[in-house]
Amino acid sequence: MSYHCPVCIKVSPNALDLARHILGRGDKPHRGWLASKNLRFSDILTAQMKSFGGGGYAALTKLLEKETWVDDKIEAGGVIPTKEKDKNKAGGRGPKS
Ligand SMILES: [Zn+2]
Repeated sequence: MSYHCPVCIKVSPNALDLARHILGRGDKPHRGWLASKNLRFSDILTAQMKSFGGGGYAALTKLLEKETWVDDKIEAGGVIPTKEKDKNKAGGRGPKS
């Protein structure tokens, strides 16, 4: 199972990681989502600075566990962006002697 950021397409293996992501972004959409959940970005940051053990993340992490959890089966259905590198192949244009 995994956790999907409700704002962007970020996927995390656990809620704490996602909490870090949301606070790390700290942009308007992410703050707005926090606000919609009655959490204040500044409050969390303040709590986080006071307790380096991650106390500031506790409430957010709990919320994320409830709200953003996604079953891996659903996830496999295509939420995860696929990497499409390695598409250009060497089409026989190597150096010739
Ligand atoms: Zn996000």
